[in-house]
Amino acid sequence: MTPDEFRALGGRVVEWIARYMERVESLPVTPDAPPGRVFESLPAAAPERPESWDAVLADIDRIIEPGLAHWQSPGFFGYFPASASGPAILGELLSAGLGVQGMLWSTSPACTELETRVMDWLAEMLGLPAKFRSTTRVGAGVIQGSASEAALVAMLAARERAVRAGAAREGLVAYASSQAHSSIAKAAMIAGLGRDAVRQVGVDTASLAMDPDALGRAVRADRDAGRTPFFVCATLGTTSSTAIDRVAQIAPVAAREGMWLHIDAAFAGAMLLCPEHRWMIEGVESASSFNFNPHKWMLVNFDCSALWVADRRELASALSVTPEYLRNPASDSGAVIDYRDWQAPLGRRFRALKLWFVIRHYGVEGLRAHIREHLRLAAMLEGLVVSDARFELAAARTSSLVCLRLRAGDEATRELLRRVNATRRFFLTHTVLPSLEGERHVVRVAIGSPAVGERHVRALWETLQREAGVCLSSTR
Ligand code: PLP
Repeated sequence: MTPDEFRALGGRVVEWIARYMERVESLPVTPDAPPGRVFESLPAAAPERPESWDAVLADIDRIIEPGLAHWQSPGFFGYFPASASGPAILGELLSAGLGVQGMLWSTSPACTELETRVMDWLAEMLGLPAKFRSTTRVGAGVIQGSASEAALVAMLAARERAVRAGAAREGLVAYASSQAHSSIAKAAMIAGLGRDAVRQVGVDTASLAMDPDALGRAVRADRDAGRTPFFVCATLGTTSSTAIDRVAQIAPVAAREGMWLHIDAAFAGAMLLCPEHRWMIEGVESASSFNFNPHKWMLVNFDCSALWVADRRELASALSVTPEYLRNPASDSGAVIDYRDWQAPLGRRFRALKLWFVIRHYGVEGLRAHIREHLRLAAMLEGLVVSDARFELAAARTSSLVCLRLRAGDEATRELLRRVNATRRFFLTHTVLPSLEGERHVVRVAIGSPAVGERHVRALWETLQREAGVCLSSTR
């Protein structure tokens, strides 16, 4: 493809994306494609000869778009958002256009140094302690592909720290609350410790936050049995209900036991842009690592997961292997960061560009306003739920996630979710939460789509009310 051809086709693709942004609200949020429809619509073999771009782009409309869930739709309230934005998409495009591979500082100094600088900005923007900034020359930030990868590299560094201190690998034990994300168990599996090496610490039934006394008891029991506690994850914003673990109460246990304290703020970390939410990070000074996903709620399209470590040498000592073919004078000098030593893969994309573009386009003020507006919409929805006696809140709200259910019980709540999703105007997901009466089925409404506004949340609420009426009359 010549530059001129690229210019012409690129214009068409950008136009397609701009049209998509305009249309997305009018599309059904979820596809009705049965399994196999997209697969069967595609030829069984690759084309032997070049095809026309008219045909390629027509297939986007004909085959791909009908097989999509529209994550950027203002009707998408499922899971957590994966919010994209114009500046982020342009950063992604530029990254692909440059095609650099930033595994080593020397393979593109700007790729590494922009990332280091923007991660310093971001640490400051969230109010994180100075120890996580590169300017300390000990701590620093790195962009990972996902919170799961961040948890994995933190756990690998923690394992290395414990083993170097004389612990036996077989006896290492990690801790996270029973509400923590499954990526913590997965990290232990990948690290070769096995999922049984992660203790699910009990939670307070009202807040669903980790019970620090239960953590203390679990740690003592493991010590008594001759095992070595080495890692604890505090979650700021659990996946099911965005419960906030109290770092200030967990940190002393971690410090006393010499455990690596990792903080997983994958979704709710974006709230730290607003100083009024920084109570969540009280005690964070003693964390060894902190992670949140700009790709969830900060308008940076997937993937962009921000990880900071207090001591970069611990990551490198767990992950660095240097074959001859990667050696170069800059790395040998020790004066540069080689991000390949801070992650599982060797190669890495120029992800800092999209983060940089987003921050420069919106400014910190614009990003704060974005988060505050979604929190306002969530508070509004919470008020509506409370005002209807058929509904109840199923968890204390701490973010833009609203957990609700029908008082009539699990079966009615399940049917409500099924009916609302069947409209295909909205998409919500479910979870199960512990309560004093046992586990309960819950509908999650995660507000975070970039295009969502008050009228969408009100329309969702009208639909919830209407469908609740149908569910309750049919289950009566
Ligand atoms: N941690 C928490 C609290 C999450 O909610 C999620 C995903 O929703 C993750 C980790 C995993 O995120 P990722 O997809 O970036 O691995």
